[in-house]
Amino acid sequence: MRKVVIIGSGPAGLTAAIYTARAGLEPLVLEGIQPGGQLTTTTEVENFPGFPEGIEGPELMERMRQQAQRFGAQCEFRSASKVDFSKRPFKVEIDGEEEVLAQTVILATGASAQYLGLESETRLKGHGVSACATCDGFFFRGKDLAVIGGGDTALEEASFLTHFATKVTVVHRRDKLRASKPMQDRAMANPKIEFAWDSVVDEVLDEGTGSVTGLRLKNVKTGELSVLPVQGMFLGIGHIPNTEFLAKQVELDEKGFILTKKNTETSVPGVFACGDVVDTRYRQAITAAGTGCAAAIDAERFLEEHGE
Ligand code: NDP
Repeated sequence: MRKVVIIGSGPAGLTAAIYTARAGLEPLVLEGIQPGGQLTTTTEVENFPGFPEGIEGPELMERMRQQAQRFGAQCEFRSASKVDFSKRPFKVEIDGEEEVLAQTVILATGASAQYLGLESETRLKGHGVSACATCDGFFFRGKDLAVIGGGDTALEEASFLTHFATKVTVVHRRDKLRASKPMQDRAMANPKIEFAWDSVVDEVLDEGTGSVTGLRLKNVKTGELSVLPVQGMFLGIGHIPNTEFLAKQVELDEKGFILTKKNTETSVPGVFACGDVVDTRYRQAITAAGTGCAAAIDAERFLEEHGE
């Protein structure tokens, strides 16, 4: 029996691990299929306090993990496949095999990149279609690329891809960007970045080659179709929460994000949630870390109140 099982290993999960480990609760951290979470797919992080020169995302996460392990957190490269929150102690199934009992659970599973849902997009995933510029940008040296979306993710991906690509076209469904002002300024000033406004992807083209050769774009205002010749399409259209494995045993909103009641408490007493799996507004590493700390303190107090 575990006092605390933490599901997820991004800034929220690992901060919860640091706090619960320091409180002597010997947490088990199920790191999931992407240990370190979304920050491991970014390069430079310039806005995490304490790193005036910036720090690489993967390094920041490795440091957080080491900090948690130093105080006795047990981090395992395994995933929670199923949970049973119907009564305490809770049951957490790991990789469809083993089951662990937990007095409290902290949910910190984050969110994953969203795709458009086109058949051609699915078919060409890994053959020119990607949702991770930092993972795949290297393969597109000297190519023309498109990034879909108008938020910070899309512009960050576009800027990053200009290190490799000849030209990057940001395809956005409106004529105004959602991204923050500094990101917009940076993208607008980059001579390799162009914009296709009021445009959506109608189809990803491969001309029978099995790899992306272009995008058929549709202008949402005029209905006009055009072809943008590119060899790669990167998605930057937001994220979906990783809550499927919960099978709705805690209350979720209509998009699948976990609803917290008071502080980090979910609809099940003893189950807490933090980070991007809860947050539809801020979604920053530092805010995730902050709520991870809060969830740890809430779990600790819950155990105290229950004399456990
Ligand atoms: P956002 O939700 O901010 O932006 C998503 C973008 O994709 C929007 O422009 C949206 O269009 C567009 N979009 C959504 N669905 C579709 C669709 N089906 N077809 C076409 N376009 C679509 O997500 P982000 O991932 O960009 O950012 C999430 C959060 O993370 C934000 O708070 C952001 O500030 C933060 N962030 C911060 C970074 C940093 O500070 N370094 C880096 C990356 C993210 P529309 O505008 O019309 O809704």
